[in-house]
Amino acid sequence: MRATFFQCGANVRRLPEVSREVAAAGHEIGNHTDTHTGLYLKSPDFIYRELRRLEIAYRRPTGVRPGLFRAPYGARWFGLRDAQRRLGLMGVMWSNLGAGLEMAGCKSVAAARKGRAKMGPFSACMMGAGSKGGRISE
Ligand SMILES: [Zn+2]
Repeated sequence: MRATFFQCGANVRRLPEVSREVAAAGHEIGNHTDTHTGLYLKSPDFIYRELRRLEIAYRRPTGVRPGLFRAPYGARWFGLRDAQRRLGLMGVMWSNLGAGLEMAGCKSVAAARKGRAKMGPFSACMMGAGSKGGRISE
């Protein structure tokens, strides 16, 4: 099974071997900004730089340019669409949340944890270490 891993530039620079291994295994890396900051209330230039810095960071260990983008926290703001267009990034969201990202009343979290979530070939499941001490968020 192939998957897309949305990574941040700061983590790619810290652990380039992980990005290299993921790419070598045939998985795709998606752009998840450079520092995982929320893009709301930010200038279009700031947003562009966040996306561009991930691209630069990821190219170093892999030689690959990401084609997908997922906004941290799903937050989109003025200027994001233009930055995506300039960098050739298609935006994606998610259909299931995973550990550490529970939302009250979200039945898909419980279903995903029990392996009963309905996942298709284009489903998106957001999982990760979250904010409870994990090294790589989301
Ligand atoms: Zn994230």
